[in-house]
Amino acid sequence: MTSSFLARLHSPQRPVIVFDGAMGTSLQTQQLTADDFGGQQYEGCNEYLVHTKPEAVSKVHRDYLAAGADVIETDTFGGTALVLGEYDLADRAYSLNKAAAELAKQVAAEFSTPEKPRFVAGSMGPGTKLPTLGHIDFEALKNAYGEQVEGLYDGGADLLIVETCQDVLQIKAALNAIQEVFDQKGQRLPVMVSVTMEVMGTMLVGTEISAVLAILEPYPLDILGLNCATGPDKMKEHIKYLSEHSPFVVSCIPNAGLPENVGGAAHYRLTPLELKMALMHFVEDLGVQVIGGCCGTRPDHIQQLAEIAPTLTPKLRQPRYDRAAASIYLAQPYEQDNSFLIVGERLNASGSKNAGRCSMRRIGTVWCPWQRPRCGKGPTFWMLTSIT
Ligand SMILES: [Zn+2]
Repeated sequence: MTSSFLARLHSPQRPVIVFDGAMGTSLQTQQLTADDFGGQQYEGCNEYLVHTKPEAVSKVHRDYLAAGADVIETDTFGGTALVLGEYDLADRAYSLNKAAAELAKQVAAEFSTPEKPRFVAGSMGPGTKLPTLGHIDFEALKNAYGEQVEGLYDGGADLLIVETCQDVLQIKAALNAIQEVFDQKGQRLPVMVSVTMEVMGTMLVGTEISAVLAILEPYPLDILGLNCATGPDKMKEHIKYLSEHSPFVVSCIPNAGLPENVGGAAHYRLTPLELKMALMHFVEDLGVQVIGGCCGTRPDHIQQLAEIAPTLTPKLRQPRYDRAAASIYLAQPYEQDNSFLIVGERLNASGSKNAGRCSMRRIGTVWCPWQRPRCGKGPTFWMLTSIT
């Protein structure tokens, strides 16, 4: 079955697709009480509202659809068992994700027309544990995502969005989980990955945008872009890189500017008009085709985007992906200046007796005399793993 979302995304008119705005800040404006969350112990668990007070979640969806959003996101940002477990709701992960997708689909159907179809993206947030930092092992994270994906899939989500990504290993766990569910179901949904680049210009764990692309390029993604963290001005260089190099459709879903602390609460300064102007530039000059709003954006912001979207044509991109290998930090293009290229991993052979012994015995090592050890305790080797 062909995805109607992909048919729309790739239609000859190349329409600009508008996602909704923030779920959390929109729920906060409803002044929900502990009772609305099902009791004090669940207060703050937005994902549980689809069970305890679904009308609060439907209202957010409805407001964004009325503002003109083409895609609404399910109320499942923290919907893995790992995050729900903080509220003793780990065993509800599948059912809450399924209910959230069903709820969003119902509301989207109220607004959907053949001329302006509305879609539901199953939201998969980063959770609270990053595998690169050793908070959780890869398999456990992948399994938690798998349960979430199954709920979103069975609830009828039109696409999946792995968003606010802070760690590429976390993205790989999510994408591997998604692929396993697609294999089980015998059918895939469109997949979007949205990474978060911090103010310092990298992901939280230090990954540059070129490394993000090198790591994700082999995956069968449909959309790759950025969301959250900063306002659009600090996203521009990263978006430009994706525009010039990424083989995937590019998305940009910024916060309403950098959050400021006003009276102990997060305050977002960017007006709807300013967001519209910034994203218009990204669409027309950098070929971004998917836009929307993250933290601090409200229906007013989305309305501005939805009004302008039909009048915009994304710049025709001619991306050139430079094949590369990447570490967690940097990408290294496969360029050969000399007769061969060494691909390897730096290893401090005196950091551990075992590592040193294994590296000398089992794998050929190449001594790089110009490479001084960072820790100053011993020599640094390039561990030779392949030669092209
Ligand atoms: Zn955000």
